Amino acid sequence: MHELSIGAAVVDTAVRHAAGRRVRNVHLRVGALRQVVPGSLAFYFGLVARETVCEGATLEQELVGARLRCLACAREWAADALAFRCPSCGGAAVAVLSGEELEVESIEVETKTEASCIA
Ligand SMILES: [Zn+2]
Repeated sequence: MHELSIGAAVVDTAVRHAAGRRVRNVHLRVGALRQVVPGSLAFYFGLVARETVCEGATLEQELVGARLRCLACAREWAADALAFRCPSCGGAAVAVLSGEELEVESIEVETKTEASCIA
């Protein structure tokens, strides 16, 4: 269900930006902390995209690693979702620098010029 609602949001965003043009590719940045299953998201994206300008578009998922900063000693480190303690001082007060991204970075749309090249 998680991936279904994300897929629906991604299609929504892409359709809005495409402004009626057919979408060929959607580039999505996904933070590691979102714990999105890429295969599952791709599946639901394809499902929701049916009968929209996104139908048949590829979904490119760029995984953004999680980086945290300790608020006590300012150490920064790359973390997986399960390690939220500072490796230097053991502090649990941390700031998330990256890893919570979930954004459509760009979309690629079909233009009339490109379509005539294919034909
Ligand atoms: Zn620390």
